[in-house]
Amino acid sequence: MYRNYPLNHSNTFGLDVMAAWAVKIPDLKDLEKITKERVFMEEKHLILGGGSNCLFLDDYFEGLAILIENKGISITNETDESVAVSVAAGEDWAGFVEKMVNSGYGGLENLSLIPGKVGAAPMQNIGAYGVELKDVFNSLQAFDLETGDLVDFNKEACDFGYRSSIFKTTLRNRFVILSVEFLLNKRPVLNLGYGSIKQELERMGVDKPGIIEVSQAVINIRKSKLPDPAELGNAGSFFKNPVVHNLVFNDLKSEYPDIVGYPDHEGATKLAAGWLIEKAGWKGYRSGDAGVHHKQALVLVNYGKATGRDIYGLAMQIQHSVKEKFGVHIEPEVNLI
Ligand SMILES: Cc1cc2nc3c(=O)[nH]c(=O)nc-3n(C[C@H](O)[C@H](O)[C@H](O)COP(=O)(O)OP(=O)(O)OC[C@H]3O[C@@H](n4cnc5c(N)ncnc54)[C@H](O)[C@@H]3O)c2cc1C
Repeated sequence: MYRNYPLNHSNTFGLDVMAAWAVKIPDLKDLEKITKERVFMEEKHLILGGGSNCLFLDDYFEGLAILIENKGISITNETDESVAVSVAAGEDWAGFVEKMVNSGYGGLENLSLIPGKVGAAPMQNIGAYGVELKDVFNSLQAFDLETGDLVDFNKEACDFGYRSSIFKTTLRNRFVILSVEFLLNKRPVLNLGYGSIKQELERMGVDKPGIIEVSQAVINIRKSKLPDPAELGNAGSFFKNPVVHNLVFNDLKSEYPDIVGYPDHEGATKLAAGWLIEKAGWKGYRSGDAGVHHKQALVLVNYGKATGRDIYGLAMQIQHSVKEKFGVHIEPEVNLI
């Protein structure tokens, strides 16, 4: 157990943050042990992976940070068609995807290079380039911090939605996800229809892509568009794409013919939050060390010494201005701590 533990390397905004208490969890038994300690019972707690989807509002977290560090990847079932792979929550997501792609197991290639750890991935049902975690998810095992029980969750029990799951809503902070099992395909079906994957494959000179090439194309696109947190603090998309009724979309479309929207569930359209923010004039904006990335308006950045409050203040200004201009509410995807 650490006292006054720096979390500078556990949040990709690069904020100068400290936790009153912290504990590293390399094993289930460490987790069981910590729940019996006074600090756990008396203080609030925060489960933390790589901190790539968190914004700390204050520079001191008055509680216990539980740092998930268990490791291990194993095949739990295999047929001619597919393979079930169980991964410990503390494994690096991008490293795990790379291993699966290089082993010839398909399904995760469009999710290449997303920062963070495996345990956080189901939390918001991570997604990119037309694929979401739920598409390859089989089950997960989690530790109930209230009862001390180990509980298995199948896909239905996780209640996955767009950047959401039961762990981000009703069960927030109650369960520590310990491992996740994926069902991957030995005869991959490629998903090339989203974003600029096809153009990137063309640029790479690939005419018969496999999962390795698709993964590389996704990596190239991400590197060209998104700032690397090691160089410029950020947490990826700050806001979720808002979903509006088609009538609202049609009204907006008549006023703004180039508005970007994709069909969502019946009668609804998902708007590109980045487009709304850019059109509201925020792309490249900077106030002190808090700013909006010059290439991608959905990404808020820390140029160096911004505080969590600076970034949050900017986010609220953006939220307000998008509401004023388009009448659309955008809500943060990032977890506010
Ligand atoms: C440059 C960049 C690009 C990104 N691109 C994408 C993208 O394309 N798609 C996408 O979906 N996301 C993206 N993200 C967001 C982020 O990478 C993902 O949400 C990732 O899954 C977060 O992992 P983490 O380990 O860093 O989670 P953290 O930030 O540590 O935690 C996120 C939340 O999950 C909870 N949590 C963490 N671990 C556990 C656990 N084991 N059990 C229970 N709860 C837990 C935390 O309490 C917190 O509420 C991006 C971020 C960055 C910085």
